[in-house]
Amino acid sequence: MTTDWHLDPGLLTQYGSGVLEPSRLMAVEAHLSACAPCRALIPADEAWLADSWSAVFDDIHAPRIGPVQRLLARAGLPEHRFRLLTATPALRWSWLLATATVLTLAVAAAWLGSDSTQLVGHAFLVLAPILPVVAVSGAYGPPADPMHEITGTTPAAGPALVLWRAVSVIGVAVVMAAVAAALLPGPGWYAVAWLLPALLLCTGTLALATLLSLPVAAGVLGGLWLTGVLSAAGTSGELIVASMFGPTAQLAYLLAAALAAAVLILRRRRFDLGES
Ligand SMILES: [Zn+2]
Repeated sequence: MTTDWHLDPGLLTQYGSGVLEPSRLMAVEAHLSACAPCRALIPADEAWLADSWSAVFDDIHAPRIGPVQRLLARAGLPEHRFRLLTATPALRWSWLLATATVLTLAVAAAWLGSDSTQLVGHAFLVLAPILPVVAVSGAYGPPADPMHEITGTTPAAGPALVLWRAVSVIGVAVVMAAVAAALLPGPGWYAVAWLLPALLLCTGTLALATLLSLPVAAGVLGGLWLTGVLSAAGTSGELIVASMFGPTAQLAYLLAAALAAAVLILRRRRFDLGES
């Protein structure tokens, strides 16, 4: 674009000191982007430019490496895999903090109120299997992942990434729930009774995600679990424990989880990855 009109010195001074109103600012910037002589009149703050550029350059070329990554790298996890995993929404601090808070409250409530200890124990057994499923629902795709449009265009996107992320969030959620279970007063088997239901709900959610979107699959199975528990409960907490966590039920969870895993392996190419 060529023009006979150029920015006068007064306007350039106002632009430089940042006092122009938005409409005039836009006009000046439009002219500057097209006119090299006027651009040359703007004094460049070389030090500021150099600082900004080196900060950007450093962030891109030498990302900070935390202790967790160092540990995983030593265990053989390649760096690019780690980058994709740490971009998992359900592994963000906010999500981890929320999970930790829920578990801490459960443990604290169980220790503080001796009358309600058993009730809290039952509530923990019912809710602990849901936590990994909630984490899985946020492991991939919209609406949980604002980066999804970008992630989805990378060669690494797809079933393998969903499984990697699912395994990592299940791992983190299970470790957190296991710590809480160990701190919970009450019968020792509380600490492990929720593990097989959690395994079934997670593999079931992933298997169902070959048919539905991940959040919907998680919602359906989480809802089924809660409905099942509530209908088994009636009025007595003892009934929940006997019918939902007894040896027969545990065996059924294990078999169903194996079935879900088989479905998942057979249909793994059909993940509904949420592309609209
Ligand atoms: Zn000009």
